[in-house]
Amino acid sequence: MNLVLLGPPGGGKSTQAALLTEQYHIPQISTGEMLREAAQRGGENSRRISELIDHGRMVPDEWVVELVRERLSQPDTAGGFLLDGFPRTVAQAEALDRLLQASGRQLTAVLNLEVGEDELIRRLAGRRVCPSCGANYHLVTHPPREPGRCDLDGAALEQRPDDRPEAIRERLALYRQRTRPVLEYYRAGGLLWTIEGDGPMAEVARRIQRALKEAGAQHGRAGAPQGRVRGEQGPVNESPGASDPGPSTDRT
Ligand code: AMP
Repeated sequence: MNLVLLGPPGGGKSTQAALLTEQYHIPQISTGEMLREAAQRGGENSRRISELIDHGRMVPDEWVVELVRERLSQPDTAGGFLLDGFPRTVAQAEALDRLLQASGRQLTAVLNLEVGEDELIRRLAGRRVCPSCGANYHLVTHPPREPGRCDLDGAALEQRPDDRPEAIRERLALYRQRTRPVLEYYRAGGLLWTIEGDGPMAEVARRIQRALKEAGAQHGRAGAPQGRVRGEQGPVNESPGASDPGPSTDRT
């Protein structure tokens, strides 16, 4: 499984990525995590990366592509991988195609988690993280047992600087401008599976499983139509050429 997981900030990518990597025993390649580490390590570009992240701006394509190139050259990715938060621009998507082609690999599916903007802001503004172990909490939906303290190690919880309202607005605007075209790129390539990301984590995970089953069945078939897996509403046909959705309720 060579997967890309896309979606707006706060769309639940990291949560679903953790479930998928455990299930398929593939490494999670999160460019957000890698960049936060690079910012903390110090060294070339680290201060600039830190500033960009804190303001919710994008790190230049060349830097991110270089991190991903290096990571994808490591042997643990040979049996599959899950890219989380990359590619975020069409230039990154094109660079990824070149990287994969050079190593004789191709993507199995691109999963796009879709969540309404009000819900995204609610999720991001309430998010708190433990600076020492990285555990995530939410003030309303997943509060720590003792307010403001990590359940695992008791450290004082913090808000990520890029989860503050101005940075959230910037990140959402950038997502609309720069990342939405990436969805079109993969839609045109027949790889895109859009999954409704509202609702309980387990339900979203089930929708992803249904999409992956379909994607796995179609993998290798040229021009396969992309799908959309929704909640109760049932399927919506996004693909102009797909006239027969077949027996599955998910595939469109
Ligand atoms: P995330 O944890 O995925 O929300 O990423 C946190 C921040 O890292 C983003 O707001 C960007 O500043 C930066 N970042 C992560 N992935 C990318 C990417 N693919 N391209 C550019 N910047 C990125």
